[in-house]
Amino acid sequence: MNAPFHDTAPANAPSGAPANAASSAAPLTLLIAAPRGFCAGVDRAIEIVEKALEKYGAPVYVRHEIVHNKYVVEGLKAKGAIFVKELDEVPTDAPVVFSAHGVPKSVPAEAERRNMVYVDATCPLVSKVHRQAERQLEKGRHIIFIGHAGHPEVIGTMGQVEPGQMTLVENIEDVDKLPFNTDEELAYLTQTTLSVDDTAEVIEALEWRYPNIQGPKAEDICYATSNRQKAVKELARDCDLVLVVGAPNSSNSLRLVEVAERLGTPGKLIQRASEIDPAWLDGIDAIGLTAGASAPEVLVREVVDALAKLRPIKERTITAAEEKMVFKLPRQLAE
Ligand code: SF4
Repeated sequence: MNAPFHDTAPANAPSGAPANAASSAAPLTLLIAAPRGFCAGVDRAIEIVEKALEKYGAPVYVRHEIVHNKYVVEGLKAKGAIFVKELDEVPTDAPVVFSAHGVPKSVPAEAERRNMVYVDATCPLVSKVHRQAERQLEKGRHIIFIGHAGHPEVIGTMGQVEPGQMTLVENIEDVDKLPFNTDEELAYLTQTTLSVDDTAEVIEALEWRYPNIQGPKAEDICYATSNRQKAVKELARDCDLVLVVGAPNSSNSLRLVEVAERLGTPGKLIQRASEIDPAWLDGIDAIGLTAGASAPEVLVREVVDALAKLRPIKERTITAAEEKMVFKLPRQLAE
């Protein structure tokens, strides 16, 4: 059920703007998506770094951005986390955390070879895909992995198997180019943060070309990705513009912009409220707002406050799903 309209008073005018800039303008309807922002995997990954800092003391090294959000990364840096690209940048006697996106098997293997203390913050839903890959290989199937080349999750999942055991496809055109015969033993898996609609099309193309291809029992796209896309679908048609708070390297945030645009509503990805161009509000009546799974709520509220300084806003939450998912911490940090 949607919350009732909530009028947000036009607070302070932005610096340089007339004091009554917001109050003199026509009201703007602000539809805020729910769920939005942090998912259970991101909450857990951030808590892992914080608990590791408490347990081992600073510095704690983190291989790759723990989640794709600069604000979060800078906050953890201030507490003593050091972010690196590769494990060989970490001193052998320092603790290291692996990011929520997952890592190739070679990374923990290398940490063990060097007798390092490491904590794996891979989201349990990404780990589930890793285990599915192992099971499909045990059954003698070659895996077609649907995902975006170069994304850390894709590198991590493809690194669960030996080279040549998994083939990446990004779209239907890639499916057309696959070299396998129809009678070969194949299975598909997907990245967790894809577009639900695009992925359905790629799976359809795979099943059409390879009628015996096996897939996961439940889809690999995670609950957080699908719920956030569903919420944007529910509000996009009623808006003139959808703002997505998220990072340009955040797959699920980029997908939210695409979902809005596919419904005919322009979408803009912003990292902070300061990126809002007041001209975006010219002549529009309603704006939608959401946030990718790695964007904290404080940044959403920052955007709401910035909009309220430009126009009086009528704020309403559009709820597409309730989320209660919580993931346990790794055993070494749980006590
Ligand atoms: Fe896990 Fe999904 Fe969140 Fe990624 S977006 S961390 S897969 S819950």
